[in-house]
Amino acid sequence: VVYLDYNATAPLRPEALEATLDALRSVGNASSVHQAGRGAASRVDLARQRLARLLGCAPGELVFTSGATEANNLALRAVHSGGGGAIVTTVVEHPAVLEAARAITTGGRGRLIELPVNRDGAIELGPLEAACQRGPVSIVSAMLANNETGVLTDLTPVIKLTREAGALVHTDATQYVGRLPLDLSELDVDLLSLSAHKFGGPQGVGALFVRRGVPFPHRPLLLGGGQERGWRAGTLNVPGIAGLGAAAEAVRVRLHDEAARVAGLRDALEAGLTSRLPGCRINGIKSPRLPGVTSVTFPDIPADAVLAAMPDVAASDGSACASGAPSPSHVLLAMGLSREDADSTVRFSLGYATTEHDIERALDTVVRTVREVRRLMGTSAE
Ligand code: PLP
Repeated sequence: VVYLDYNATAPLRPEALEATLDALRSVGNASSVHQAGRGAASRVDLARQRLARLLGCAPGELVFTSGATEANNLALRAVHSGGGGAIVTTVVEHPAVLEAARAITTGGRGRLIELPVNRDGAIELGPLEAACQRGPVSIVSAMLANNETGVLTDLTPVIKLTREAGALVHTDATQYVGRLPLDLSELDVDLLSLSAHKFGGPQGVGALFVRRGVPFPHRPLLLGGGQERGWRAGTLNVPGIAGLGAAAEAVRVRLHDEAARVAGLRDALEAGLTSRLPGCRINGIKSPRLPGVTSVTFPDIPADAVLAAMPDVAASDGSACASGAPSPSHVLLAMGLSREDADSTVRFSLGYATTEHDIERALDTVVRTVREVRRLMGTSAE
């Protein structure tokens, strides 16, 4: 199988596997004061330092969670006091932001403003400006990179407007971390979410960056033993956290090379598809994008038919999190695609272990499959 679904999950890096196994073989609760506990705590400390080095923040600014879903929920809930302030986010966020923001603001606990995007997937700033002028705003949450299209958000104007309104800025960087360099000493956000399995760590572990000075959570998601400075109670997932740290260290030293190589492969895939399958369109191509993602619409051909007909290429229709759901991608609809085109869109996402040979094989298979499905469906072909 050619695996081109890194945005759903990336293969575990060997370094992460080793660190996870090593922790699984040892006993110790990171909160215990005896030697076994100190061993577990030192694995967590090392992981915290490694992740902090990847992100350019202080280790003490990181809260380990079960993933980005929890980090997003925690960020919004922690900050939004419900005192009439608004949560401002974008229509193209992952459901882990959108659904959380909707739930938090229901029942009169503040307004929710969802910023639209243009045809290229870029956020429209006008409504943000209006919301900030109208005030009060408690938090603005905008993703750094979109999981379906790879379109990047320029957070600089978002941060500027949010600061002027006296609100906090959160970004869901789940698809960005480990794919492109990030430096939190320069990117002035207050909160940032990530998930280890998107950059080669284990599934079920992630983190929320909380910049020093952000007030203690109004409502933590989990109450209990007070771990993670009260931000997230519960025994720490030491094997997962150790794997996350090892993946962060592995990606940090290779990030520039990996990003350039993966972008080259993605460009080759796009060039091959558009030249050999006239009529197919790349969504968000005019915007800056992640190196490894391409969202391709094959007009008049349902994406699920294409995917079902090529079991040896692992790609995705819409986002994996939403697969099985009958509704078309909210991201593509927000960018102005018709329902039919949204349903005819396949996401290929490449990553650190993708090879040139993978791309050649995928290209041949996809081209053959799309031509065959077009023929069977009698749709106007090339
Ligand atoms: N945010 C984005 C942008 C994502 O792509 C994902 C996963 O696909 C998540 C959040 C949720 O991550 P997790 O399922 O690891 O909690």
